[in-house]
Amino acid sequence: MSQNHYDLIVVGSGPAGRRGAIQAAKLNKRVLVVERGRRVGGVSVHTGTIPSKTLRETVLNLSGWRERGFYGRAYRAKQDIGADDLRRRLAITLDHEVDVLEHQFARNGVETLEGVARFTDPHTVEVQGPRGDAVACTADRFLIAAGTRPFRPAHIGFDGEAILDSDEILDLKRIPRQLVVVGASVIGVEYASIFSALDVKVTIVEPNAGLMPFLDRELADEFVHDLRERGVIIRFGVKVVSAEVTGPQACQVRLSDGRELGADMVLFSAGREGAIQDLGLAACGLEPDERGRLSVDKATFQTAQPHIYAAGDIIGFPSLASTSMEQGRIAACHAFGAPAHAPPEFFPYGIYSVPEISMIGMSEEQAREKGVAYECGVARFRETSRGHIMGISSGFLKMLFALETRRLLGVHIVGEGATELIHIGQAVLNLEGTLDYFVENTFNYPTLAEAYKVAALDAWNRMPRQQPSRHAAAQALEKARKAVGG
Ligand SMILES: Cc1cc2nc3c(=O)[nH]c(=O)nc-3n(C[C@H](O)[C@H](O)[C@H](O)COP(=O)(O)OP(=O)(O)OC[C@H]3O[C@@H](n4cnc5c(N)ncnc54)[C@H](O)[C@@H]3O)c2cc1C
Repeated sequence: MSQNHYDLIVVGSGPAGRRGAIQAAKLNKRVLVVERGRRVGGVSVHTGTIPSKTLRETVLNLSGWRERGFYGRAYRAKQDIGADDLRRRLAITLDHEVDVLEHQFARNGVETLEGVARFTDPHTVEVQGPRGDAVACTADRFLIAAGTRPFRPAHIGFDGEAILDSDEILDLKRIPRQLVVVGASVIGVEYASIFSALDVKVTIVEPNAGLMPFLDRELADEFVHDLRERGVIIRFGVKVVSAEVTGPQACQVRLSDGRELGADMVLFSAGREGAIQDLGLAACGLEPDERGRLSVDKATFQTAQPHIYAAGDIIGFPSLASTSMEQGRIAACHAFGAPAHAPPEFFPYGIYSVPEISMIGMSEEQAREKGVAYECGVARFRETSRGHIMGISSGFLKMLFALETRRLLGVHIVGEGATELIHIGQAVLNLEGTLDYFVENTFNYPTLAEAYKVAALDAWNRMPRQQPSRHAAAQALEKARKAVGG
């Protein structure tokens, strides 16, 4: 067998590729990861998850954001925060992440090759190296984990300095005074709220009537209210017709309702598309959709070619680093006959805006749509002792319970620590727990997690008192399970 033949070739070293590669290596397979970037890690490490979260943490620390509840809105931990301050911590964090990844690959015997992978037939990729050298590699199985790149429509005059996409914003040379964010996507909302915490004047333009339609409306309304309270302008229901640089640090954004916005920086964050341009998909018999996504069997992650798997953002929703990792792992297990369960139906969604948002399970709107009778319980963080200690004035935790079975149906959190707190709800939801879990168990005090108990007691006040008989409970549980499963 040729030196260049592998059990598995993985295209892309982001969360899906890396987890798939390591899983296959743990199954004693010979694995090659091909990565076009200079360093491994993918969008997640270099332009997406980790850098944006590092930027957020840096801004919250330097601006003294978390202390403003006590010391007032003018409080800052560091006066005169510049772009250098933001980039410094970014570089250190990213170096550390890459180092950990490289060590992980080395420890598990995963080979890596820098270059662009292009299929030349269903079992061969040609890898074009950075110096123009090309090498052909063959494999029994492939995992395409090539991810996405920012969507860059022609009517936006990107110049890499004043009009930027979400990859370019991380290479920030200066902090804007006025920022227009085009698209209230997760990425757009995260950056808009991070810059607003730096007291940048931010305007968000979003063609839909509200932001992020998958969010529970009560939570979305609270978040929008919070942003507006801080001076963020949100223009719903209008499109951007054009955006252009009109002078040094001057941009003009024209809207579909005839209005114009001036700003010294524009961030375009309205969508991403599959990074398929160099993959040579036709040569391996695969056809992407119009946004460059590949369709797969949702249980095994096999494409139309059974020996070629695809995972991560290239297969579309939910496009999270967290879910991509699991998909990569399951794909590798299936490829080599190792047991693996399909991912659980309920997974948490984290939005690292300021304040944070996180959710799992049904929203109120979804419960109504499915005809599930439910009751809600809400706890405001300012009702908890931990909230008092931290000087928290906003944020809440909301839970939905099935009226018949008392089962937890969904958790929705906006506020400090939301993305960590959600995992308590996730465990109870996936273990089919009920309202009584929260009422009967003791929580550490003082914690924000106590909000679970407060919210459960709030719901308990309105829940029917009568416990159903064992038989009725079993029947009701089965009914709710079917409803939740859709
Ligand atoms: C600004 C931003 C913030 C985000 N925040 C979060 C968050 O907080 N939490 C979360 O869970 N998710 C977040 N995400 C999403 C997360 O980054 C993605 O879901 C995740 O990176 C997808 O992983 P992946 O493995 O599919 O591919 P990617 O991470 O996109 O990696 C794909 C890799 O494939 C390489 N590649 C592409 N084509 C080729 C080729 N032909 N040959 C060789 N290599 C190739 C690319 O260079 C890239 O390195 C965020 C994304 C962005 C953009």
